[in-house]
Amino acid sequence: MDEPGEKAEVVRGSCFCGTIRFEFTLPTLFCGHCHCSMCRRMHGAGYVTWIGVPTPKFSLTAGQEQLTVFASSAHGERSFCTTCGSSLFCQSSKHPEIMDIVLANLHDAIDRKPQAHYYFSDRADWTAIGDALPRFGGETGTEPLAAESASHMITEKHA
Ligand SMILES: [Zn+2]
Ligand SMILES: [Zn+2]
Repeated sequence: MDEPGEKAEVVRGSCFCGTIRFEFTLPTLFCGHCHCSMCRRMHGAGYVTWIGVPTPKFSLTAGQEQLTVFASSAHGERSFCTTCGSSLFCQSSKHPEIMDIVLANLHDAIDRKPQAHYYFSDRADWTAIGDALPRFGGETGTEPLAAESASHMITEKHA
């Protein structure tokens, strides 16, 4: 909840070419690295860092007609900029109240740092992780893999 009288802090972001612009208000719900194969292929990257924000706090401010949305699974939709290809958002019909946003596309700082690695069992074998963050994996991508534990919001298979 925002402090009484305090203006909610707005965070802005865009795709690489700037056609698609969006904003949301803090606080975020989570921030984590995802190693699932869908994220890796969609981004051409070793893993992808996502944040979650409440969907009602999110708004697309420019370029909606250039946002290509496709079904990436039975319950998930991913989207990207039709012009530059930046991967932008992921939403699941299992938790429509949460919007997943790619951290790298933000222009402003947020309220937290990455908290954990998810789908760590599915990671690319050329990915070397040297940090001490908790690692989750297994069938759901969210089962603890080590002694560490963490409170986190991701409870569904990434879509
Ligand atoms: Zn773009
Ligand atoms: Zn993923």
